Formats: sequence, C-alpha cells, structure tokens
Amino acid sequence: MALDAETRTQLIDTVRRFVTERLRPIEAKVAEDNLVPDEIVAEMRELGLFGLSIPEAYGGLDLSMEEECLVAIEVGKASPAFRSSFGTNVGIGSQALVMFGTDQQKARYLPGIASGDIVTAFALTEPEAGSDSASVQTRARRDGDHYVLDGTKRYITNAGKAHLFTVMARTDPDVKGASGVSAFLVPRESEGLSIGKSEKKMGQQGAHIHDVIFEGVRAPVENRLGEEGQGFRVAMQVLDRGRLHISAVCIGVAERLIADSVAYAMERKQFGKPIAEQQLIQAMIADSKTEALAARALTLETARKRDSGETVTLEAAAAKLYASEMVGRVADRAVQIFGGAGYTADHGIERLYRDVRIFRIYEGTSEIQRVIIARETLKRGG
Ligand SMILES: Cc1cc2nc3c(=O)[nH]c(=O)nc-3n(C[C@H](O)[C@H](O)[C@H](O)COP(=O)(O)OP(=O)(O)OC[C@H]3O[C@@H](n4cnc5c(N)ncnc54)[C@H](O)[C@@H]3O)c2cc1C
Repeated sequence: MALDAETRTQLIDTVRRFVTERLRPIEAKVAEDNLVPDEIVAEMRELGLFGLSIPEAYGGLDLSMEEECLVAIEVGKASPAFRSSFGTNVGIGSQALVMFGTDQQKARYLPGIASGDIVTAFALTEPEAGSDSASVQTRARRDGDHYVLDGTKRYITNAGKAHLFTVMARTDPDVKGASGVSAFLVPRESEGLSIGKSEKKMGQQGAHIHDVIFEGVRAPVENRLGEEGQGFRVAMQVLDRGRLHISAVCIGVAERLIADSVAYAMERKQFGKPIAEQQLIQAMIADSKTEALAARALTLETARKRDSGETVTLEAAAAKLYASEMVGRVADRAVQIFGGAGYTADHGIERLYRDVRIFRIYEGTSEIQRVIIARETLKRGG
C-alpha cells in the first residue's frame, strides 16, 4: 500500500535524521566491535524498520516497493552493516511468507517479524550450491505429517540471531533441478538445528554470516510454504524483490560517497587551490554522479513497475547488476579523490570500499544477473 505524500516525506525525513544523528557517528566503532549495539537495534524497531514490507494487518508499514527503495537509499548512507540488522526481516527472510504463506502461517509469525521480536533468515546457499541454487542438496524427507531436514546451508545472513529460517530443501531426490525443491519455515529452536561460527569477512563488520546445519530436523507439514516442488519459484520471486532493495542500498552508499568526496575535494588544497578545482577530480565526480543518477532512475522505475503488478525479473536483475557495479566504481573513485586519506582508515572511505564489494556477489552474482538479463531479453525477442 502506498503512503500519502506527507507521511512518505515524514518517514524519509525521520530515517534520514536517524542515519545522520545515530548511525553515522558510531560507524567506526561498529566496525571495530563487529557489533551493532542493542540500543540501536531497539531504535530501529521503534522506527518500524523491521516491518517496512510487512502488511499493515500484521503490524508492518506495508510500504510499496518504491517507498521501500526510498527508505533503503537513506539507510544506505550509513555503513551497510546497519541495514543488515533488519534487512532480512524486510526482504529475503520474510517475503516468502508474505507472498506464499497461509493465513495461519502469517498470523503466527508476521507480527513478530514486523516488530523485530522475530529475526528471520533466508537459507538457500549450500557448500555445493551457490550460483546454481536449483541444485540444493539439503534433503526434506516426508515422514507422516512432518518433513525431516538434513543438510548444510552456507553464508546465511543473521543466522546467529535468527529465530525463524526460510529454508529451501529437496523434497524429491529423483528430480535433480528446481522442481524437486520446496520451501519451509523452520524455527531456530527446532531440535537438530545448529549454527556454525561467524565467518570472518572482507567488510560490513557488524553483520554476520554462518552455516546452518540440519540434522534430522522435523518440520511439520503446515510449515511448508506453497506447494511441494514450488520452493525454487518461491526463492526466485523473493530474490527478484530483494534485488531492488539491494540496488537501492547501493545507490544510498554511492550518494553518500559522492557527498563525502565533494566535501573533501572542496576543502583539501594542493597547488594552492582546492582539488575540486582540478578538472581531473571533477571528471571523477561527474562520472560518479551520472552513474548514481542512472542507477536511481532504473531502480525506482523498476520498483514502480513492480508496484503496478508487472513482472520485473529482467529489470530487477539489470538494476542489481548496474547499481552494484556502479557503487564499486564510485567507491574506487572516492578512494582516489581522498588520496592517502582514502586508503587509511580515518575517513571511513576504505571501509565503505570493502563494504560494497559484496553487493556484486550476494542475491546473485553480476554474472548470474547477466545470465538472467540475457535469458529474459532473448525470451522477449529484444
Ligand atoms: C556476506 C554474504 C551474505 C550472504 N547471505 C546469504 C543469505 O542470507 N542466504 C543465502 O542463501 N545465501 C547468502 N549468501 C550466499 C551468496 O548468495 C552466494 O555466495 C552467491 O550466490 C554466490 O555463490 P557462491 O559463493 O557459491 O559462488 P559460485 O556460485 O561458486 O561462483 C563463483 C564464481 O563463478 C561464477 N559463476 C557461477 N556460475 C556461473 C555461470 N553460470 N556463468 C558465469 N559465471 C558463473 C560466479 O558469478 C562467481 O564469479 C551470502 C554470501 C555472503 C558472502
């Protein structure tokens, strides 16, 4: 549901203030401690950030995709690790339930997801199934009115604190590809479910990924999302949506890096004048600005298309590909504009340079986005 213009402006302003006053001042400490403080998470809950995409009937803000992107752009102006605290609840962790859940499943979990009392995670990737996600090997064997899950999921965001997992597992071992896969809601406290150590990562310290191990985990049949064999379709629809959210975050980080670069270039003097007066610096700023505007236009237009009911598989993949590659280039130019100060830790530019690298990898690598874009373009005949 779309907000009226005034409420929308208010929400964006509130998030912008929260980012500026509460998140940006503690970015370095969050990275150093590898932890987003509890009081910040509590404030995110207060603001409704955990429930941005959850229907109002279940206590969420029920934002349209375009509105969610506008909020994600603002949140992207602080270290992306902050967004990760609630990102799974807004996107990949909740949306299979929102899109495919029964009324009973929704009533049970969505209010807690919207408030942030329930943290969710999305468990698709496995040690042997990354880009080829239709090849998941985690097994869900039917046993009376339960399924029994066995297998390992890898790199699962927020697994360490999640209360509820959306898990893609193979219900039909005789079907090798997508149609043998089903989706399940699996609570953290299920017997046989364990969480691996937090992985050391290149960036986004404060956000965590873990293995999730299933050993004879029993999930009742009523926890299946959609029909048997629909799990891969569920996952792909969740990712179509998630890719727009990630594109918006990339735009937010890029806009912040451009603002930081401009401020620095106007203040830093070499050869007797601000480096902002050097045309070679201006060229970098111009390229970054142009690309950020292009990503913004593509992402918001695609979000509006999705809001009007169009299938946006191609456009969402194009937005994710372009925005994630764009922010990598913008971060690289920002390091260059800051010179030595960009490479050292003081201004946080090198941290953002590392933080944005993952956007080209998760929720489908750039290569996989290209595969999707080409496939869909060929299908459409141009
Ligand atoms: C920080 C982080 C958070 C994550 N969070 C989650 C999560 O919450 N839930 C989840 O399920 N997963 C998550 N992932 C997993 C992520 O989605 C995968 O890492 C990603 O999809 C790539 O899979 P892979 O790492 O196995 O790489 P691979 O699939 O092994 O790819 C390696 C390289 O081969 C290329 N490649 C593979 N196939 C093709 C092809 N057909 N054509 C061209 N090139 C190809 C890839 O593009 C890449 O460059 C996360 C990963 C990280 C690092």
